[in-house]
Parts: sequence; C-alpha cells; structure tokens
Amino acid sequence: MTESSTRWLFGDQLGDYFLDDDDQQVVLVESRRVFRRRRFHRQKAHLVLSAMRHRAAELGERCTYLVTETYREALEQVEGPLSVVQPTTWAALHLVDTLVGEREIERLPARGYVTGRGEFGRWADGRGRRRLLMENFYRDARTRNDVLMKGAEPVEGRWNFDADNREPPPRSGRLDIPEPWWPEEDEIDAAVRADLDAMEADGIEFVGEDGPRRFAASSAEAQAALDHFVEHRLPTFGRYEDAMLTGDRWMAHSLISAPLNLGLLDPLAVVRTAEEAYVAGEAPISAVEGFVRQVMGWRDYIWNLYWYLGEDYRNENALKATTPLPEWFTRLDPTGTDARCLSWSLSSVREVGWAHHIPRLMVIGNYAQQRGWDPQELTDWFHRSFVDGYGWVMVPNVVGMSQYADDGVLGTKPYVGGGAYINRMSDFCGDCVYDPKKRTGEDACPFTVGYWGFLHRNREHLSGNFRMGQVLRNLDRLKDLDQLLEENPEFCA
Ligand code: SF4
Repeated sequence: MTESSTRWLFGDQLGDYFLDDDDQQVVLVESRRVFRRRRFHRQKAHLVLSAMRHRAAELGERCTYLVTETYREALEQVEGPLSVVQPTTWAALHLVDTLVGEREIERLPARGYVTGRGEFGRWADGRGRRRLLMENFYRDARTRNDVLMKGAEPVEGRWNFDADNREPPPRSGRLDIPEPWWPEEDEIDAAVRADLDAMEADGIEFVGEDGPRRFAASSAEAQAALDHFVEHRLPTFGRYEDAMLTGDRWMAHSLISAPLNLGLLDPLAVVRTAEEAYVAGEAPISAVEGFVRQVMGWRDYIWNLYWYLGEDYRNENALKATTPLPEWFTRLDPTGTDARCLSWSLSSVREVGWAHHIPRLMVIGNYAQQRGWDPQELTDWFHRSFVDGYGWVMVPNVVGMSQYADDGVLGTKPYVGGGAYINRMSDFCGDCVYDPKKRTGEDACPFTVGYWGFLHRNREHLSGNFRMGQVLRNLDRLKDLDQLLEENPEFCA
C-alpha cells in the first residue's frame, strides 16, 4: 500500500526522509484544538506552523494542507488509503490506533533517530530498569554506527571527553565566536504571525513574547544552521558547553535541537558532518565528541526510553512532590523572583522560548526539585514553553533526569546543587542580591538554602542511595540546619 498511499505527516515529520518517493501525495493538518488545550509559547507555535507551511510550499500540489479543529475532521476530507510514520507521542499513537479501526491506514516504524526502537530493545532487554545507563547505550550506538571509531576502539582512546567540557565561562564575559546563523522571515512567517494574532483575538492564549523567528523552519534553513555551526562554533562548543553568561544566552550551542525535533535534519547525517570536521582537523575531539554525545547519545536515549518505559512513566513521582508551580513561573514572569540566575533563565524562555541545557537543568529544574514542585506540571511547562520541547523529549528529561521522580532510572542521583555550582559556571552571582555561600540570613542564596532543604526533606528516601552517602553525612554535620529550617519552614520534612 505504501507506494500509492497518501502520507499523513505530523508537524514534526517534515524532512524528505518521511516520504518514500518524489511523487508521494501528502496531507498536513493544522489542528486548532492543539492550541485551545494548552498555552504554548507564542514563538513555539510560530515555529511549528511556519515549518509546516514551508513544507507545504515545497511540496506544492503534492500536499493537501488542511486547517481544522481536529485531525479527525481533516482526515475525513482525504480519500483513499493513508500511511503514517509512527508519531512521537503516546497520545498521537492512540489517535492513529483509533483511526486505524475506522479506515485504511498503514502504520510505519518511526524515522528520525539513529537508534530505532527494535535496536534499543535488543540493547535494553534483560538489563533491568536501573541499568539502562546512557553511557553504555551511547558506546553501543557509536560502535554499531562506526562513529568516531578506530576499529573496535574510540578514536583517541576515550569514549567520553566530558571532563574537558566543563570549563567556567571566560572572565571577559563573552565568547570570541561569530553569532549563530539566523533565519530571515518571509511571507509565510508574516501570514503565520497574522493568524496567531487572530487566534489570540479569538481567545486562544499563548505565553512568552512574540519576536523574530530564530530557529530553522525548513530543511534548507536547518542545513544552513548546521553548516554555520560546524564551521564557526563547534570548535568552541565542548569547552563551554556547561557555562552560562548573562550577555550571551546562545554561547556556542548549535540551535539545531528545534529543527531536529521538527524532523528537518537526519541525525546521523548531522553526526557525520561533525565527525568530518574532526577528521579534517577543524574541530577538537572534545567538542565533536560532546556534540555527537548529545545528538546520537542523549537524544536517542531519551526518545527510546520514552517508549521503552511505557506510558505510565510520565506519572512517576518518587519524591512525592506535589507543590503547584507558582503563577509568576507559569506566566514566565522574571520579576517573580530576585534570584538573578532564575530570573535570567526565565527571561530567556520568555523572550526566545529557549535556554541551553544548564539553565534548564541546574537553574530551573534544580530550583523546582528543591521546592518539591509537581513533576508532571513541570513537564507540561517545559513541553509548552520551549521551541524544541515535545512530549517524548520532556517526559524522560524532566520526570527522570531533572526531577528524579523515577527514583533513579535516568540519573543515579538527584540533580540538585547549591549556589556554588551556579557561581562557578556563570557570571550571575556577582550582581545578585543573594550570596551563593550563605545558607542563612536575609541574603542567603535560595539555591544553597534549597539544596540543604531538599536533602533534609528527602533524607530518608535518599539514604538508600550510595551516591548520596557523603552529602547526607555533610547534612548531619551542618551546624545551622535548625536556623535554616526556621527561616524556611517549607523545607521541614
Ligand atoms: Fe543564583 Fe544564588 Fe547566584 Fe543569586 S547568589 S545568582 S540566587 S546562585
């Protein structure tokens, strides 16, 4: 059926590799209900609609583009057999399953990942939930795909260059590299902006600011962004991968996570491009390995765990964290906190729908975990607020990696840290009203307070984790814990 079927593409299946031949007919659906159900970031809504409409324009008469309330309404207008590549969320998969019972739809395996679900299953089965370590998966994927390998061994004798990739930011306050590649908006973007304005006038709510589109919305743009990154920024990427600077939210990051997750780039081709830069001597192994680890290691690991761990994984809440997200946070209001690092991170999300992985993990996620914010609410917030956020991305990243709600499947210990880490890896603390070293008093750093408060509140639960032994012993030795708890009763167990 595949050759003659019309390919139903979701909005994150936009690259050529989601089609089987150059003549295949396509249907793309803009469902308005998606925006009515959830308050997405305005720039995320813009990017997705722009990318879908750019794809439709590329396909021309081969594409039937429908704007309806629901997918079902749209597909009723399409005659003949359909085929669909496995969508990227459980909810979309259930929709497809329901429709399969009503009409002829061929379901095809997922595309857009280096390691498919079958290969992942072969690697994971029999290991047990707590032994699905990213590092082991990554090495297996490198070997299978012969990436940065010399025979059976990793090039330069090491699998992992993380230790070289943790430098604090330069004291100059800036990286000496060219700006990222930026897209130029066109008439499609203008039409998207007008439609989003009309939706807002019609009562659909968004969060965040509107602004120029900053992420690639077509395969050609995505390739330009990738080529520019590899040529100008990749050599610096590894070194400052974890650093944060007030004056440079982009640092040396690639900004290709959004087009990758829209299906506009083939991840293995992305990896090969970076590998070629290493082979040609244009980028050091620490930078290239760090980048490859993100694309075919972490990204594929997350994708596969989303499916492998099952649909109920999203509801896990091992630390019984039930505090609702504060309103200022859900409104992306940076004035809701005096903590400079958190305010800055929230501003970045508000202004561009993006912040790199350290503000996500060590500022926003860290703060939320310390205060016991509800991990499901937080997952939804990340999904809606980030241009590259999708269910499959955010469920394992937030429930597992960031919030430890899975009790140690993705991370062997909670990702919590005090102000000292943020002070070392950023230039935020100098101008902050708080002091990163202080845990009591008016200028006590909320991250330092939160770190000890989190350990105190979860002491019993974490006592069985051998990686937490030392920090819990440090907690026992803390002389001012009573004062800290008196000043911050929310951390009382
Ligand atoms: Fe953040 Fe604390 Fe540093 Fe202020 S002092 S910027 S709250 S880590």
